[in-house]
Amino acid sequence: MPDVKLDVLAIAAHRDDVEITCGGTMIKMVDAGYKTGILDLTAGEMGTKGTAEERGRDAAEAAKIMKLSYRENLNLPDAGVELARENKLKIAQVIRNTRPELIILPFWVQRHPDHLAASLLGYDACFLAGLKKLKLDGEPHRPRKIIYTSSFRDVHHTFYVDVTEQMSRKLDAVAAYKSQFDGSEQSNQIFKPGVDIFEFMAITAQHYGHKVGVRYAEAFTVKENILVDDPVKMPVKSI
Ligand SMILES: [Zn+2]
Repeated sequence: MPDVKLDVLAIAAHRDDVEITCGGTMIKMVDAGYKTGILDLTAGEMGTKGTAEERGRDAAEAAKIMKLSYRENLNLPDAGVELARENKLKIAQVIRNTRPELIILPFWVQRHPDHLAASLLGYDACFLAGLKKLKLDGEPHRPRKIIYTSSFRDVHHTFYVDVTEQMSRKLDAVAAYKSQFDGSEQSNQIFKPGVDIFEFMAITAQHYGHKVGVRYAEAFTVKENILVDDPVKMPVKSI
């Protein structure tokens, strides 16, 4: 997709990572009138299931469902995303081209090394993109806010996003990855035998939702503190 000024850019290692971890929030941002985009770092050529081409078609279909304004792929080696300066600069160039206010990154503790690398590369790229003297195309741009998707991680979440209205579209976006999840019991299983990804996403979102009094939610972490303007109207009941 051509470069476009975005409000929100989510960066992840693999096609389908964003859909699974924060797809509901991405859709909610579109519902609110924001322009959203995804930068996938790899094409998925090392994935157990499907080819990179099939995954590319799936990602395009998911982009339509999520009404993304932008989706790009850096074609870094799958299962080999390195913390190299060259990679940081490639991501920084995308940030300059799309000028997002909000960046969504994977949480900084991960099982898959590519997910960890995406988190660290993304942070450094946000910093680099704002440096005037760095030799990149376009004007310097530093996103105002970075949030980390911590759904599925047993860590301290800073906040939740109510995705009750978006949940069915999120599941549709993940189901668009037919090369990964073809609906068969075996194909849908992730992490360990017996865990169906769609059931897992629904249960996790319900669990987070119950913590904040909504049906479905996605979890995020930020490094900085949150400033509240009106404590009287703070959401989520204490008692
Ligand atoms: Zn992944």
